[in-house]
Amino acid sequence: MTWTYAPAPESAALANLQPAYRPFIDGEFVDGNGSMKTVNPATEEVLAEVGTASADDVDRAVAAARRAYETTWGPMPGAERAKYLFRIARIVAERARELAVLETLDNGKPIRESRDVDVPTAAAHLFHHAGWADKLEYAGLGPSPKPLGVVGAVIPWNFPLLMAAWKVAPALATGNTIVLKPAETTPLTALVLAEIAAEAGLPAGVLNVLPGAGDIGAAVVAHPGVAKVAFTGSTDVGKQIQRTLAGTGKRLTLELGGKAANIVYDDAALDQAVEGVVEGIFFNQGHVCCAGSRLLVQESIADELMELLRSRITTLRVGDPLDKNTDVGAINSRAQLDKIVDLAAAGDAEGARRWTSPCPLPERGLFFPPTVFSEVEQTMRVAREEIFGPVLSVLTFRTPAEAVAKANNTPYGLSAGVWTDKGAKAMWTGRQLRAGVVWTNTFNRFDPTSPFGGMGESGFGREGGRAGLAAYLDG
Ligand code: NDP
Repeated sequence: MTWTYAPAPESAALANLQPAYRPFIDGEFVDGNGSMKTVNPATEEVLAEVGTASADDVDRAVAAARRAYETTWGPMPGAERAKYLFRIARIVAERARELAVLETLDNGKPIRESRDVDVPTAAAHLFHHAGWADKLEYAGLGPSPKPLGVVGAVIPWNFPLLMAAWKVAPALATGNTIVLKPAETTPLTALVLAEIAAEAGLPAGVLNVLPGAGDIGAAVVAHPGVAKVAFTGSTDVGKQIQRTLAGTGKRLTLELGGKAANIVYDDAALDQAVEGVVEGIFFNQGHVCCAGSRLLVQESIADELMELLRSRITTLRVGDPLDKNTDVGAINSRAQLDKIVDLAAAGDAEGARRWTSPCPLPERGLFFPPTVFSEVEQTMRVAREEIFGPVLSVLTFRTPAEAVAKANNTPYGLSAGVWTDKGAKAMWTGRQLRAGVVWTNTFNRFDPTSPFGGMGESGFGREGGRAGLAAYLDG
């Protein structure tokens, strides 16, 4: 049964939305060379005008970052760098409510998630790395690890502030400076992060934020003044970047797509597994690189699990992202919605059985109902391609070996989940799975102390933990 709740909307006014935002270069907000509009996907209304960077701005930003690296930030003792990072982390925490509402307006994700996951996890990454800044020689990365120089970072639209923090925190803690290109559809929180850095007194040029389209991302990564590139986004763009960087000697980490298997054995606690499966695919509308988008369920419990799953999904509320009762918010862009619609249609055409949650959808805005495809074969596009939306594909297996073979039958290798009552079975399965992160009896858990990253077409390099620091240092 679905409970009826009165709407509990968070106030949009808390976002302190400005009519216009501008690129941040060398410690100042500058006019940029053009402009774009950023849109609230829940209403399709324009939120703000955003100045965009040009190729010249990329030059200016890299030069400013280089100067800051050579004159202020690079030579600064780690304990001093830490003070700035702690200050930035504290201001992010203090302005958490404003950032959460702004993120929800620009991205479409439920306020519950931006409030409870995105912003606190971004602050946690900043605090964690601030703590490392004066202890790098004890990180087990050599007696005197050295920064690399200017980092070029390009981030996607699914966790805009969190991805900015994942790049900025380790880059700055290790003594590098950074030029950051946020995604075209979600530039606002990265620009507020720049404002926060200025408020914290961060020296000019240490952090530069360049809104713009893919061409600006391409210009940042190709710039000869950039020593290290950190990219999160699609596998296609990751491959292009790898080609651009081949032979340049630049360091590169790539965090790309995924098609994670969530394996449920017949001895699992089914109610908990259902929660984990729902969390795995419907968190953030399924716009999650490590989403558990392929459910592998043991055949003997498939009918029971599917029934439990459908009844749980039926209770998910899809709608106004600012409403604190909302579980599934808006799809970030029209292009992404079209992609989800097309891939779901491919599921129908290839013979999978579609079930759609009967939840009501808002009359306007970009929404897609929670959807489950059963009777999925491994060759189908819904089993192979990253849908990046609230669409789950269900396959069955009979033996642990079959579960592992099916789970590993993907070019990706970012994450996986295992649900079982037996520790030994969980350990055995985890060891067989080709995935950078394996969760047991849980899913989508993130912590700055724990390295995150993939293998195969999900990319390489780790973010978080000691391994994440290593990516920004010369041992
Ligand atoms: P992209 O990989 O195109 O975008 C990620 C970032 O890279 C954005 O800032 C983008 O800018 C920028 N970019 C685009 N082209 C280039 C380039 N040639 N060189 C350098 N930077 C570039 O992902 P999309 O937003 O287009 O999403 C497409 C699909 O990718 C999704 O449907 C999903 O399947 C997958 N994806 C996976 C993510 C993950 O976390 N694994 C995150 C996002 C998407 P701009 O925004 O201006 O295009």
